[in-house]
Amino acid sequence: MGLAILFEPRFALRAGARSLVVGLLAGGCLLPCLLRAALPQAEPSSLTLTGPAMGTTFQLKFAPASASKPLPPPAVIESEVREILDRLNRQMSTYHPASELSLFNQCDLTNWFSVSADVAVVFQMAQTVSERSSGAFDITVGPLVELWGFGPQRRPTQVPEASQLEQQRQRVGFRRVSVQTNPPRLRKDLAAVHCDLSAIAKGYGVDQLAEHLETLGLRDFLVEIGGEVRARGRNPAGEVWRVGIQDPENPEGLRRIVRLRDRSMATSGDYFRYFEQDGKRYSHTIDPRTGWPAAHALASVSVVHDSCAMADAWATALNVLGPEEGWHAALREGLAVLWISRTPAGLTERSTPAFDNWLADQTGPAAAEE
Ligand code: AMP
Ligand code: MG
Repeated sequence: MGLAILFEPRFALRAGARSLVVGLLAGGCLLPCLLRAALPQAEPSSLTLTGPAMGTTFQLKFAPASASKPLPPPAVIESEVREILDRLNRQMSTYHPASELSLFNQCDLTNWFSVSADVAVVFQMAQTVSERSSGAFDITVGPLVELWGFGPQRRPTQVPEASQLEQQRQRVGFRRVSVQTNPPRLRKDLAAVHCDLSAIAKGYGVDQLAEHLETLGLRDFLVEIGGEVRARGRNPAGEVWRVGIQDPENPEGLRRIVRLRDRSMATSGDYFRYFEQDGKRYSHTIDPRTGWPAAHALASVSVVHDSCAMADAWATALNVLGPEEGWHAALREGLAVLWISRTPAGLTERSTPAFDNWLADQTGPAAAEE
């Protein structure tokens, strides 16, 4: 699938939004949908750029008129975007056998291993979230992700043998990895350590694309990769961008709609990549402290943050921590978080004061006036 730039003089998103739903579901990702309600009544021109990215799909939306300086032709913007996404793939993909990450994983040595600045920065952010989440976030879960069948090699089918789990757990632990940014390099204390950046790389990709659009002078845009999203300014109707949080019970529907202004939002949930055995659901979020998939009533965790990479990592970390431990961690960190949980009476929601304050700020009079 190639990238496509669509000129939308009527900003006719309806068909695009539907195909986005289908595309992302096929990619097994959580989805923020642009709302139909957000479609402008007027007819401003906007550009939409969509295509494959990081094992899923991406979309960019922006109004060329919001640029503070002349924009390059669309074909140039397209190739710049493609280059950024290709670069991220070459750096951080676990599916690409020659990516920097795969080479680091395959390396039999425990010496310092040179990487690009991007990879070192992502490792550093990951290690920060690992420390602050008491190890719930852990990029060294790679072998466990693979054993449970959620990695590049296999599809999930069944609970692994206890002995295999014990064996693979020996290779896991975020303190086994060290990172330096100057010069950018990584080190593992055991050659068998395998890292997996899937829980943070999409968010980092969103940050990279957003920064690129900013360097082009764009002030109104929305960037999304596999459900992680960042919005700046306004949509082409002049309104704050609206983003949907999927309904975990009906992933084609929306549970909540939030206005996202100059922030990122990432969601981690149990309802796309999972398998069931004996009536129990095993999802792709692994608790590194037990070696088992996180098991609790949480259906999804959404985090709003300035940085999409941090939102992505924290959403996964809080998903591992579960409703109680996660609640205390989120309060301690001052994070804006919305949890959706399953109960016998249906789905329930809980949010931190930081999330409620942020939401009020998005919907208050100031947001409407700007
Ligand atoms: P996300 O959808 O952002 O929550 O990322 C989930 C993916 O991250 C999984 O498919 C695994 O590849 C990886 N992963 C699973 N558990 C963890 C964990 N505890 N810490 C970091 N990455 C994880
Ligand atoms: Mg994540």
